Amino acid sequence: MSDLQLSGICKSYGSLEVIKGVDLDIKSGEFVVFVGPSGCGKSTLLRMIAGLEEITSGDLTIDGERMNDVDPSKRGIAMVFQSYALYPHMTVRENMGFALRFAGVAKAEIERRVGEAAKILELDPLLDRKPKQLSGGQRQRVAIGRAIVRHPKIFLFDEPLSNLDAELRVHMRIEIARLHKTLATTIVYVTHDQVEAMTLADKIVVMRGGVVEQVGSPLELYDDPANLFVAGFIGSPK
Ligand code: ADP
Ligand code: MG
Repeated sequence: MSDLQLSGICKSYGSLEVIKGVDLDIKSGEFVVFVGPSGCGKSTLLRMIAGLEEITSGDLTIDGERMNDVDPSKRGIAMVFQSYALYPHMTVRENMGFALRFAGVAKAEIERRVGEAAKILELDPLLDRKPKQLSGGQRQRVAIGRAIVRHPKIFLFDEPLSNLDAELRVHMRIEIARLHKTLATTIVYVTHDQVEAMTLADKIVVMRGGVVEQVGSPLELYDDPANLFVAGFIGSPK
């Protein structure tokens, strides 16, 4: 559980400015969903929060502490990507425990946390399988499991379901909503799927061209979109 604040966040690649001053206040336990067209800067923003990308200017704070220069591993953040590369030669159990082993966590504690995550994600019967023996949805659950075992304060998801077929996406969406309830943790989630955004979010952030167009609950955006762009994106009849 953590408060996350973005204040005047900008990002440039050389002379190309891709994030142009983003201010955002995310409350502890909130499920915040970023939407916006391809290339508007959603992934770049997530990567800056995670510490995988340097912030050009502005302040990122977690629970009041400035994080701009804090090592990614010390931010209390775990990220789940669209392309969830599992280690093919490792079992599910080993895949989930790997980051902890790497960080020097004791073996018994790793086992405890992997067991706990497996229970939450209903992966118990699959712990000794290799990734190639799993379905797409099961693999994605393992990828989420790898994040859960780290006990992050904040989860970042970058289009985690976009590689799954429609039926599985619906199923996983329900699982992620359940996960948010179970862990009561802060989630920042990127998607281009409007239904995903409307059903998962406490708060939706609509982006375009590196700026935030509007922030609000799904109902607020639907009932009172700030402009035609937001209306078009959310699907409201303005
Ligand atoms: P989204 O996730 O919303 O589709 P991205 O954050 O991936 O958008 O990209 C935002 C913009 O930044 C795009 O114009 C993209 O081409 C550019 N961009 C992303 N990463 C780099 C990079 N490493 N170098 C240069 N430009 C980049
Ligand atoms: Mg992206």
